[in-house]
Amino acid sequence: MDLREKSRQLLESGDVKAVIGYEQGTMGARRPAFVKKAEKADRLVFDEACAQNLATYLTRPEIRKLGRVAITARPDTLRAILQLMAERQVKEENVLALAGDGTVELASAQAIEEHLATSAKELPARDREILERLSKMDRAQRWAFWQGELSRCVKCYACRNSCPMCYCGHCTMDCNRPQWVPVASHALGNLEYHMVRAMHLAGRCVECGDCGRACPVGIPIHLLTFNCEESVHHQFGQRAGASSKLDYALSTFRPDDKETFIR
Ligand code: SF4
Ligand code: SF4
Repeated sequence: MDLREKSRQLLESGDVKAVIGYEQGTMGARRPAFVKKAEKADRLVFDEACAQNLATYLTRPEIRKLGRVAITARPDTLRAILQLMAERQVKEENVLALAGDGTVELASAQAIEEHLATSAKELPARDREILERLSKMDRAQRWAFWQGELSRCVKCYACRNSCPMCYCGHCTMDCNRPQWVPVASHALGNLEYHMVRAMHLAGRCVECGDCGRACPVGIPIHLLTFNCEESVHHQFGQRAGASSKLDYALSTFRPDDKETFIR
């Protein structure tokens, strides 16, 4: 049985209200597909070109109100689903992940965790090369690198909109009474936006890279949140997307926490 047949069966039986997957887009690209009728399941494809993290749709009101949905899921989509469960944004009973070639049903958080334990995470070569360069820089050089990159930002917010962990209904960036962060694209405002975003994602980023892929000017913005995630892992031993039962490291307190940041 392939993904299309499985989707058809799930929709016909009423087991799920929709299948969130990919379909053929333009120029060989893939785009998200939301299939609600069994006879439309033939639109679905699932191959190497399917890069977008579809978990970002699970928190949209239009999807939430459907009830249980199936979602074709690569490993980073599975990590995002677990993290969304940990943050009480997705109910376990409302998601059926279709992993592997799209036919492996993972119906519970435990099944997802076990499946992830068998798949290794590997960064693309370009990311590895930039991270390697950054690791050799001192603090001033890293600051200059990011200031240079962020100065190119056009404030389109595609990075925010593509991120499965940016699900707030009302983002501070869109708030104009008061205007916390300038709307215009300029050095200081860009820096403010990205600092706020990086801190909000510290320890929550599941390292899917979608924000970087979405950036129209090619800023490797995902590496900033990767770095924050690595810091949280180093300091607190937690990995975002590893479990549906994770406390958020930056909003919990334990008496034996390290307090080296207090001077
Ligand atoms: S890599 Fe980017 S899009 Fe993916 S979870 Fe992290 S911040 Fe969000
Ligand atoms: S996607 Fe790129 S250009 Fe758009 S706001 Fe994010 S960093 Fe800036």
